[in-house]
Amino acid sequence: MGQAKTKINFDSDWSYDPAPQATDFIKLQERYGLYIDGKFKPSENGRSFHTINPATEEKLAEVSEASEKDVNRAVRSAKEAYEKVWSKISPKERGKYVYRIARLIQERAREFAVIETMDGGKPIRESRDIDIPLAAAHFFYYAGWADKLDYAFPGRKTKPLGVAGQIIPWNFPLLMAAWKIAPAIATGNTVVLKPAETTPLTALKLAEVIQEADLPPGVVNIITGAGETGSHLVNHPKVNKIAFTGSTEVGKIIQKSLAGTGKSYTLELGGKAANIIFEDAAIDQAVEGIINGIFFNQGHVCCAGSRLFVQESIADELLRKLQDRMATLIVGDPLDKNSDIGAINSKDQLEKIKFFEKIGVKEGGSIYQPDCTLPKKGFWYPPTLFTDVSQSHRVVQEEIFGPVLAIQTFRTVDEVIQKANNTPYGLSGGVWTEKGSKYFKVTKAIRAGVIWANTFNKFDPASPFGGYKESGVGREGGISGLSAYVELV
Ligand code: NAP
Ligand code: MG
Repeated sequence: MGQAKTKINFDSDWSYDPAPQATDFIKLQERYGLYIDGKFKPSENGRSFHTINPATEEKLAEVSEASEKDVNRAVRSAKEAYEKVWSKISPKERGKYVYRIARLIQERAREFAVIETMDGGKPIRESRDIDIPLAAAHFFYYAGWADKLDYAFPGRKTKPLGVAGQIIPWNFPLLMAAWKIAPAIATGNTVVLKPAETTPLTALKLAEVIQEADLPPGVVNIITGAGETGSHLVNHPKVNKIAFTGSTEVGKIIQKSLAGTGKSYTLELGGKAANIIFEDAAIDQAVEGIINGIFFNQGHVCCAGSRLFVQESIADELLRKLQDRMATLIVGDPLDKNSDIGAINSKDQLEKIKFFEKIGVKEGGSIYQPDCTLPKKGFWYPPTLFTDVSQSHRVVQEEIFGPVLAIQTFRTVDEVIQKANNTPYGLSGGVWTEKGSKYFKVTKAIRAGVIWANTFNKFDPASPFGGYKESGVGREGGISGLSAYVELV
């Protein structure tokens, strides 16, 4: 019998076949309670809201809305757990619990990644390879510090602050929860955490993990709700520390209400980072870095490289290469493993991005968007460039928090330093050059918390992260992240 021959058509195009991530193993409850004192409980007034998948607009689950009374219950539980259990337990024991949480996240990593993508719209490739492994890494890292605080602060003794109220945004939901919870509990504090309204599900899954890890009830409480719930938490008199990540606008409101209360706080706020490409940079690598800098997570990244500065002599070549590369980006189903750019997190955020697009055009900017067919349902926005813009344009000055890049050119090192610093923000930056002396000079002169050289958007639990100016107060990550949760005595 002759063997059937497979005919290969070498003329066909080399487009990707769909590579969908399975979702049939995901078990979501129809309705989630608030995680208080080690148990899931409904809100006292029965109020709830729902969270949707922004790629399909389908409802995923109903989530409880915590009222002021619920916030009081959660803080009471955290306070009791702090006084009776967590401040008494040995640091080594504390560390064991934190390790256990880290391992359970790792074991359930794919489940977390799929839910993160469904609830927030980010590509599965990113939630699988970045968000979830980094969240586990933060728990592992701070678990290691729990019984070594004497080495972190030689010659000093540390004392936990007490109850930490923690409020996080929707762009890296589980990762931000890990940034907040891991250092807090490893250093002996207890926690009440409020995730963002549009992405509560991985925080609630984390509550399940925390329950499974047998953490003493009340050490971590997770309460869902809107901004109002967050503000009750900020203003609660028994909360000793507020850790907030979110917009500069809300950060300012929080800072005002904390003034004079004696509460400690860290604020991780917005950004408008300069990504600077010198003429001696490796251009193809720089193009990849620019793409990663602004299109990673649909540009919903506080440290996104949203202001690009290109040295004039290479501007034409770089722009051509950048546009060619943008045309290859796959925008679509976040659960498809090929997708580079997923859905915009919410309708509100999509409207905000479109608002800035209009302003950019109205103010005289030239816009470029590659041809791409966007899905009909859900919230979508193509990768976008603005050229012919200058320092005074709003798309250059204001945080858009979407896949929109504003490009300017420069001639000299001093000129680009001045332009890069001409912003109210100071969170991050990038410098691309083959000369070590140049990136040392430039990174020193730019006022930003993190500056990458010949790379962008690289994160590690051991390195501190945080801003200057309107990008915030305090640092998270590394040893600096420990000092934000202890008093040195
Ligand atoms: P946001 O509107 O400031 O919200 C952040 C969190 O605060 C959410 O949980 C929100 O609840 C809550 N909230 C809103 N109003 C509040 C109030 N008056 N009091 C207390 N809590 C309140 O920010 P977002 O739009 O979610 O996130 C995007 C922003 O976060 C961007 O500006 C981005 O740059 C920044 N960000 C910064 C970092 C960093 O490390 N520096 C990291 C990630 C994001 P709701 O969800 O219900 O509104
Ligand atoms: Mg959602």
